Order: sequence, then structure tokens, then C-alpha cells
Amino acid sequence: MSLSPEKLFDLTGRVAIVTGASRGIGAKISDTLARSGAKVVGVARSDQPDEVPTDGVEYFSCDINNHSAFRNICKKVFEIENRLDILVNNAGIFLPIKQDADRLKSFSGMLESNLTAAYACSIAAADQMINAGNGGSIINITSIGGVVGFAGMPGYAASKGGLGHLSVGMAMDLGNHNIRINNIAPGYIITDMNRNTLTEDLPGRNRRLARLMLKRHGETWEVAAAALFLASDAGSYLTGDTLHVDGGWFMQGMTYP
Ligand code: NDP
Repeated sequence: MSLSPEKLFDLTGRVAIVTGASRGIGAKISDTLARSGAKVVGVARSDQPDEVPTDGVEYFSCDINNHSAFRNICKKVFEIENRLDILVNNAGIFLPIKQDADRLKSFSGMLESNLTAAYACSIAAADQMINAGNGGSIINITSIGGVVGFAGMPGYAASKGGLGHLSVGMAMDLGNHNIRINNIAPGYIITDMNRNTLTEDLPGRNRRLARLMLKRHGETWEVAAAALFLASDAGSYLTGDTLHVDGGWFMQGMTYP
């Protein structure tokens, strides 16, 4: 089978679930998948998303740490649509350590939301993908912080590093169902999570820009574009892999004056 270029990114008839869809990167991914033809169910804890969702995106309040609630959403989607094609595990948190007493709480909180819940969401969605028999694409939003070390965030590093490798393990198990699992590791993307740090801390900003090959922070649509690639037939032969959407931050080696 070969697809015409205009069909490669066409998601007409496909059904997607995006976690962390109330704002930031998740809201932009939901919007992009819907505008490419998919029916999208977006979930996050907030009762309402920050912005009115695009046509084609239906928003539900759901805490992904409530594993049975998320599993029920997957079941309902399958009952109504008779298929589930795409899951984007985008919901993620960073819990800062303000004092030594917070260290274990912060660590286990990030492991629970960023890794265990993403696994629970993945198996709940994969079960319905297998029921439908059309294959599928699971996309885990990891981080450059899951591959290289950053000071003061061991829990975030462990959760995102674990999530990145979870994709590899699950890709091994689900490849025979034509379910692909890949990571997007964003670099510095301006969202509510980091707007103050990225824009107000000028010395930090200059240090980051010096290491960015593209000399700028990223925008949410640039992560959403990578998600569209992995979700669609354009990415049909990728699994267990990682796209670093980071302006060259991760791959930069030594610079010479
Ligand atoms: P935001 O904080 O702007 O958005 C996070 C989203 O996750 C929100 O929609 C939030 O909604 C949702 N969320 C958090 N916890 C839960 C939960 N338990 N259940 C359901 N939804 C939840 O972050 P970004 O958009 O910046 O980040 C999105 C992803 O990208 C995260 O996984 C983050 O780690 C990753 N990332 C971001 C980078 C960046 O530079 N922005 C860099 C590298 C990785 P609500 O509060 O309504 O639940």
C-alpha cells in the first residue's frame, strides 16, 4: 500500500484521546488532531478547559490518577465510535522541592502522575485498540529532562526517563497488533508550566538560548505537528522511538569560539 502525500496526515475517521488537554501542549495537540479530521476526546482535571475546544474536540474532566475513570472513558469511546486509534499521554506535572521534607512526596507524586498513570492510560486504550482491530498509535510526551540531567528535579527525570523507556517495552508487546508507541521529547516550549521561568529569568534565558541550535524557545504547535506525524499514516513505520522537538538542544555538542 502506498499513500498519496495529501492522505499521509489525514485523520478522517480516526478517534483519539489526549490527556492534559485543558491547556498548553495538550490543548494544541487536540486542536491539531481534530483539524486533521480526527474525533478527539480531551481530558484533564479542570471542570472546563482554558479555551473553548475546537470543533471535533469533546472535553471531559478526568484525573488520570483515577485509573478506573480513565478506563471507563476508553470503553465509552469504543462503545460509541467502535474504534480507538490514538492516545496521547501528554498530562504531566512538575512538583518542586521546597524543603527536604518534600523530597519523597515530590518524587512519588511525579512517578504516580507522569509514569504510573500514563501506563494505566496506555493499557486501557490499548485494550480498546485491540478490540477494534485497526492498530493504533500511542504517543508519550516525555522531556529532554528524561534523557539528560537537570539539577533539582530527580523525580521529574525519573518519571520522564521511565516513561520514555516504557514506550520501548510496550512497543515490543503491542507491535503484533500494529500498535505503535513513540515518544516526543520536547525541549523548552513556552506554556503556563514554565512561562515565568522562560521569559522572566533573563540570565537563565540567555544560557538556554546559547545552547539551542535554533536560538529560540519552541511553540506548542511545533510539538503538535510532531504528534500529528506520529499519530497519522505518515509515521506508520516508527515504533519504540523518540522525536526530540527541542530546537537542537539535546544534540548540541561542544561549540568553539
Ligand atoms: P501545562 O502545565 O500547561 O499542562 C499540563 C496539562 O496536564 C494540563 O492540561 C493539566 O490540566 C493536565 N494534568 C496534569 N495532571 C493531570 C492529571 N492528574 N489528570 C489529568 N490531567 C492532568 O504543561 P505543558 O503543556 O507545558 O506540558 C505538557 C506535557 O509536556 C507535560 O507532560 C510536560 O511534562 C511535557 N513537557 C513540557 C515542556 C515545556 O517546555 N512546556 C518540556 C518538556 C516536556 P489540569 O490542571 O486541568 O488537570
